[in-house]
Amino acid sequence: MTGTEASLRTKSENPFDIAREQFDAAAERLGLESGVREVLRNTQRELSVNFPVRLDSGVVKVFTGYRVQHNTARGPAKGGVRYHPQVSLDEVRALAMWMTWKCAVVRLPYGGAKGGVICNPRTMSRRELESLTRRFTSEIAVIIGPDRDIPASDVNTNAQTMAWMMDTYSMHQGYSVPTVVTGKPISIGGSEGKFEATGRGTAYIVEQAARDAGMDLNSARIVVQGFGNVGAVAAKILHELGARVVGVSDVDGGVYDPRGLDIGDVSEYNERNGRLLGYPSGERLTNDELLALPCEVLIPAALENQLHAGNAAAVRARLVVEAANGPTTPEADRALQERGVVVVPDILANAGGVTVSYFEWVQDRQAFFWTEDEINARLKQIMTASYEAVKARAEREGVNLRTGAYLLAVERVAAASTARGLYP
Ligand code: NAD
Repeated sequence: MTGTEASLRTKSENPFDIAREQFDAAAERLGLESGVREVLRNTQRELSVNFPVRLDSGVVKVFTGYRVQHNTARGPAKGGVRYHPQVSLDEVRALAMWMTWKCAVVRLPYGGAKGGVICNPRTMSRRELESLTRRFTSEIAVIIGPDRDIPASDVNTNAQTMAWMMDTYSMHQGYSVPTVVTGKPISIGGSEGKFEATGRGTAYIVEQAARDAGMDLNSARIVVQGFGNVGAVAAKILHELGARVVGVSDVDGGVYDPRGLDIGDVSEYNERNGRLLGYPSGERLTNDELLALPCEVLIPAALENQLHAGNAAAVRARLVVEAANGPTTPEADRALQERGVVVVPDILANAGGVTVSYFEWVQDRQAFFWTEDEINARLKQIMTASYEAVKARAEREGVNLRTGAYLLAVERVAAASTARGLYP
């Protein structure tokens, strides 16, 4: 983001302001005691690092990265690491806070954390990315660890990034520590089903929410924004379940076919070319046009603030399932709710990723591995039960699903905080 763009960013689009606004509303409704409220609306630990990397040109460039732990009352901190030019401390704080609530919604024994490095991986070579990852890991090694804080992949990071992080941390220790990160390749202690977990979890949620909305998934039209680890997998699984995925997009724009896209073919093209641009069939369209497509289900699976006051009225879906973190601003949330659009919140809809990360960590700790069928069955059970619990809470209190999920999550974290008390 340029300086001008940053100064134009309204308060309501600062992710940490949004995360706090969402928390405050839940805390108010729960009547949380002011001390606990103060603890939970702040992050626990924030590490900023500036570190040098030698680029292929020979030039040394200093990068800035962050690791933020929001809360560890319920267990070690857990959360991904993002590489993106627009990473900021406030973004990482918000993502860390959302991780705390997400782990609580699906009852994993974790707190929340997040990390990020300001960089543009699209312009960096594999060697440069390896150097950046290894040095960033060394810098944050003082606060991560299998019982302290366990990173994972997120936007523009993947299994290879996690392998470099695991190797770097292990070199520091002098022995292999697979439990320090999740999302690793299977060959070094990664889990079956992890690659697909977030998108698969989202697809399970779409199935349930569509059923509740009286929709037949077989005739439902689905639109997915963001064709990365989460969006492409969600599109693939929904396509396999019989849904008609009519539109998908990435950062450059999207492709639309009202008769339904051949998602296998789109994925193959995307893998071969690293982008959707140039996909030979269907109609090309911008991300703004994609979000306004006629459809039953819209799945934002890219970045924050994609649905905002300026475009919420154009959304034609009946159901929005937030696969991305923080894709809907509070203004858009209100506008969608007023029009009767059901929004399934991120802290529930994309919790499949951290759930299978937890399975990976448990398997690594026991050095005993499960089959993919076992993983997927356990994932489905947790996603289904969590959706039902959120829905029941929302119905009981007469609130939307986001507030229902926050009430459940904040209550659980507050209970853990209160039980532990204040140190010293
Ligand atoms: P990714 O890097 O694999 O893919 C991101 C996709 O979004 C790419 O296709 C990219 O081109 C596209 N994109 C980026 N900016 C865009 C824009 N402005 N408009 C449209 N598309 C855009 O990332 P990912 O891992 O799939 O993560 C996507 C979202 O899901 C993020 O919000 C992330 O925090 C969240 N999430 C990821 C996981 C996970 O397991 N990876 C788990 C939970 C939540």
